[in-house]
Amino acid sequence: KPTILWYRRDLRLSDHAALTAACKRGGPVIAVFIHDDLSDGLGAAPKWRLGLGVEELAKTLEEKGSRLILRRGAALDVLRDLVSETGAGAVYWSRLYDPDSIARDTAVKEALKSDGIEAKSFGGHLMFEPWTVETGSGGFYKVFTPFWNNVKSRDVDAPLPTPAQIPAPDTWPQSDKLDDWHMGAAMNRGADVVRRFVRLGETAAQARLGHFIAHIVQDYKALRDIPGEDGTSNLSENLALGEISPHQCWHAGQRARHEGKQGAETFLKELVWREFAYHLMHHTPRILTDNWREDWDAFPWQDDARASEVWAWKKGRTGIPFVDAAMRELYVTGRMHNRGRMIVASYLTKHLMTHWRIGLEWFNDCLIDWDPASNAMGWQWSAGSGPDATPYFRVFNPVTQLDKFDKNRQYASRWIAEGRASPHADALAFFDAMPRHWGLSPDDAYPDPVVPVDQGRHRALDAYENRDF
Ligand code: FAD
Repeated sequence: KPTILWYRRDLRLSDHAALTAACKRGGPVIAVFIHDDLSDGLGAAPKWRLGLGVEELAKTLEEKGSRLILRRGAALDVLRDLVSETGAGAVYWSRLYDPDSIARDTAVKEALKSDGIEAKSFGGHLMFEPWTVETGSGGFYKVFTPFWNNVKSRDVDAPLPTPAQIPAPDTWPQSDKLDDWHMGAAMNRGADVVRRFVRLGETAAQARLGHFIAHIVQDYKALRDIPGEDGTSNLSENLALGEISPHQCWHAGQRARHEGKQGAETFLKELVWREFAYHLMHHTPRILTDNWREDWDAFPWQDDARASEVWAWKKGRTGIPFVDAAMRELYVTGRMHNRGRMIVASYLTKHLMTHWRIGLEWFNDCLIDWDPASNAMGWQWSAGSGPDATPYFRVFNPVTQLDKFDKNRQYASRWIAEGRASPHADALAFFDAMPRHWGLSPDDAYPDPVVPVDQGRHRALDAYENRDF
């Protein structure tokens, strides 16, 4: 009897436990991607990027003599239809960890089992299942370093090879056409611009990992903080959609460490920050929506009062070069350097005293490497309301940060065109990538700061010191 392999955020063939098990089970394997309410509810850029990833996965499966069946609807209805159309005896998938996916998957598993179908979920999106990492007293970790110390010496499963063959059925079930789903419809900015920066699919992700390990990881510890350098792995979009697995990155990092490459340990640590984010989301799912530290509910966030300042932030027109460069990088590439993310989040939540949720939602809409756990942890860390967060009174100064991390202004000049005789092509690309109705032009004058750095800092610290929590 066939096995249905339900693809979600695991768009690869290598190191895929569910695919490997499906092939081993014997009988044909029918891979399906279901466009349901959860994928439909994604922000503009993540949904568009998911569509590209699905298209690429379909091609990769075809090269192996297989196919990706596309269906739209509620997951359980679609899976039941497929079971009855194909006579499948099992449905396999890779586990997800956000509360909405858990609710859906739990219901699907129970229902299929009650139909007499083998319904089984597999690991692979994470190296350490969140419930397997415990403190000495049996609780969960709220601080990164002890979490790291707990997991750093654990054995991580070696990556599984791509199955040599994916057995095909005699006849394939009917499939929707991806184009009919219009997954890029909400990209009201230049998707063709962002497309140039996408690293699509598992082959490209593996090639980038190889390049990173051979040429970059040695200096990663120092370079990872310099946004003007190609100094990080740049694999977050691939990890977010499972085009590469964390195990593959971990083992490559371990090999580099054994070869004495200096930055390798720091890279392993960053991979574990991703695991930590999932650990926190598993144990406290409210991190996605509410202040993780409940005392922060009393903080006087300005939800609407600073609407024009928030718009300037979104448009990359705050008049603070580090903030604007990073926000423009976001529109053009769909990604943002980690230091940029920390700077723009600090400026929004501290200088503009705007609720972190507003920033989080904007990132939900704009990031092609959007990840529910890492995005929420990043925002709450930056705002000061999260676990192991930077304290609110530590306000990043985006002017001195630029002097420190962008000494030669490589980053600022790459992304800001105004006031330059011959702007960088990427700085000009911003004007093609931004929504038309923003009406910006490279010939505009560069704005004065919407909130000067010192003034914003004092305002935020006053509010913090006079808080009644
Ligand atoms: P590298 O430096 O090469 O690190 C390797 C991998 O480790 C990354 O691909 C990522 O999977 C993981 N990683 C690194 N740093 C972190 C971190 N701080 N938290 C969690 N995982 C990390 N990351 C996302 O993948 N998706 C998001 O939606 C996201 N939103 C963020 C929002 C804010 C406000 C902040 C401050 C950070 C956010 N991050 C997010 C974390 C981090 O900025 C990115 O993972 C990193 O910039 C990706 O670049 P890279 O792949 O070159 O990372």
